[in-house]
Formats: sequence, structure tokens, C-alpha cells
Amino acid sequence: MTAAPPKYRGFHRGIGDVSNSPVLELLVGGEGTETYPRSLHIASADDADTDWNVAASTDPIVYVHSSTTPATDYVSLTHDATNAIINAAGATNLNLQIAGTTVAQVQANALTLPTDDDFIALGASDDFQLLWSDGDASNHAAVIAIGNTSQQIHITDVGAKATDWNISAGTHPELLIHSNTTPATDYIGIGNHDGTDAYVNAAGATNLNLQIGGTTHFQVAANALAHSAANSGAETTLTVTNSSNDASAGAEIGVVAGGASASGDAKFSALETSGHELTLGIDTSASIGVLAMNAALGSADGDAIRITDAAPPVITYNAAHPTGTFDYVCESCGAHGGQMFECCGLVEWHDDVAALAPLLGDIGPGRLTGFEPGVQHLAKLGVMEITPSDHEGEDKNFVGIRLDKAQWFTWSAMQQMYQRIDHLEKRLETVEV
Ligand SMILES: [Zn+2]
Repeated sequence: MTAAPPKYRGFHRGIGDVSNSPVLELLVGGEGTETYPRSLHIASADDADTDWNVAASTDPIVYVHSSTTPATDYVSLTHDATNAIINAAGATNLNLQIAGTTVAQVQANALTLPTDDDFIALGASDDFQLLWSDGDASNHAAVIAIGNTSQQIHITDVGAKATDWNISAGTHPELLIHSNTTPATDYIGIGNHDGTDAYVNAAGATNLNLQIGGTTHFQVAANALAHSAANSGAETTLTVTNSSNDASAGAEIGVVAGGASASGDAKFSALETSGHELTLGIDTSASIGVLAMNAALGSADGDAIRITDAAPPVITYNAAHPTGTFDYVCESCGAHGGQMFECCGLVEWHDDVAALAPLLGDIGPGRLTGFEPGVQHLAKLGVMEITPSDHEGEDKNFVGIRLDKAQWFTWSAMQQMYQRIDHLEKRLETVEV
């Protein structure tokens, strides 16, 4: 038994909209309880009665078939009460054309604008544009163009997309990336190149951290620039290099304390975290240069060397260490003083000038080794220093002279010589009389 033909099919004079009728309707089967497929196929006359092999559609659907392989290559158009659907069957691309030229293309996994310099635009006046630009003919590149008024592009979470950023319109393009916590006030701004300077702005942040592998290595704070990270087995360095070799090339690291009235000093510090610290700088309150074995400059016991800003500068060594005089010396430990004292070894009166004789006799054209008896004697007195090299493989001693103590030793020797001369002069007077 064959099904009854649909009530309406084909062109129809429609008068449903009394204010706008009649209209031409093109009807497909399926009125009321009819079960005819609601399809309209547009095909070449040669393809009449092709088995189209498409499922019956609940909603009216128009198929436009190719002439080449009409059963499988077609585009359909329908509305399922939720979505409007254009289906390109057997096609690689769904092309949208203007004047016969494809300006946009829907692919299985892409939505493209295939022509260079065409752009995706957002905003009533194409305010935001995304394009593949051939502006540089030799190096085509992706370009994001933002509105001339705002000059800003914001990256934020979807929940904050409607935030009032409350940021004044910029003069130069800027990328702003917001926090999820307080997006309106916490963000990093990059750009704003004003033709002279470029900026990275950490708004609402305590620090601007520069990381490698997720670890902060460099930190910019309002009043500090710090590098701090563990670096096992290697040295961490800060290097300023001017690789030029021309006549005026140089390199400098500076520390500046503003004004003579400032209480803070301009200084460099070398700190061993167990507590030893060497500081070099300007003691601002005293207007002097200082090398100190201390965190602060200007201390009576911390300053090792002071340098005035006279021209030429005057250098002063800290001589307050209780070196004593060298009249009596312990032969065992080298302790010394102006009076006889008891010590770990034999203490005897000591001829300072005679003690210098072997040292001066030791000095030859070669480097002192520290094994010279005269040098070892003065090292025992604390006037010189003999210390093995701290470098593995360097089989040498550091041989040094302690200038402040050497000065005391020399004065002590002069005093002894004066006493002798004075004694001899008095005896000479007696002989002459
Ligand atoms: Zn002793």
C-alpha cells in the first residue's frame, strides 16, 4: 500500500500574514501527522530520482547538490529550532565569498581569513583587529591592532571580563595582564613605549619577580633590586661589561647617596652570612672614604682605613690595636711589652734594630717565601704575616706586612736607638770633661 501524497507541496500562495500577503511559499511535505521527509533537493535534471540517502528531517531542509557527485556532495540549510545549520557535505571547505572571492573559510578544524591583511574585527568601528600582515613585504607577521583611543589590551579571567578597569586611556599601546584575585587593581602592564622609554609596570604588587624555571632569581621592589637564589656548586655573578675597546670605553657600577645631609652612606658590601662583612664606601656624615671590616662606616673599631677627600687624599690606618712596644719579647709566642712580664716562654729585652737585620739580610731579588728566619721572627711579633695560600695547588705563602704594627715597631726601635745615643752622649760628655 503506498502512502497518501502530502496535502501541500510545491509553490503555494500564502496569505497567513494578512497585512503582508499574498506571499509565495515553497512547501515540503509533512503537514500535521504526515510523515513525509521535509526535504527540498535542488539538483540537476539529470539527477532526478537519485537515491539521496539522507535521513528524514524533522525540520524543513534545503539541499543543493553538486553535478559531479550529487548524492554525496551538497550543501544543506536548515533550522532545528535551536541552531541554524549550514552543512557542507563532501566538501573540504565552506567558503564565504564576496564578488566571487573567498573572504572567509570554514574548515574542519579551522576558521580562516585566507587573504593577507584581511582582519577579524571587534567593536563598532573595527576597534580591535587581528590579521596576518604583509606590511613588511620580506617578513609577513601576525598583528594585533588595538583601538587608537584606548591603546590597551587586557588579559583577564572570563569572570572579570566586564570589569571597570578604571585606567586612563593610554597614548601608546599597552598589554595589561590582571590577577584573578583583585583584577581591577592588581596587574602587570607591558609596553607604553613613549618613543624614549619602554615600561613594565607592576601595579598593586610588592615585587616584580624575574624567574627562570619557576624560581625567582631577580626581584625588583620599590626600593631594592635583588638577586637571590641557591646556586649549588657555582658562583653567582653580577657583571657589567663594556666590550668596546675604543678610546673612551669604560665600565662602572655605582652607588649614590644623595646629598651631604643624608645620614645613609654610599657603600659596597661583601658579606659572609656567618657575620663577617667588608664594607667600602663613603661615610656621608664625615665626608670620608672608608674601608671597614664592619657593616657600618665611621666606627672607631670597624674602620680599617680612612681616606679624606683632600687633593691628594690623606690615608689613615686604624692604629688603635693594642700592639704595645717591643722592648720585652716572649721568644715562644712573640708577646711583647714595655715592661718585663711572664709568658709561655723566655721573656728578654729585645733589640728591635738588631731584629731587623736578619730580615733585611733575607731580602734578595726573589720573592720572599715566608721561611726566612728574619721574616718568621717578625711574623711571630705580629709585624708581618705568613699564611699558606688558600688556593689548592698554589704551594706558596702569603707574606705580608702590617703597616700599622710595623710603624709601631719602627718607632719602638727608634726609641731604643735614641736611648742608646742619649746614654752614649752622656758618657762622651763625661770623657770630654
Ligand atoms: Zn709567650
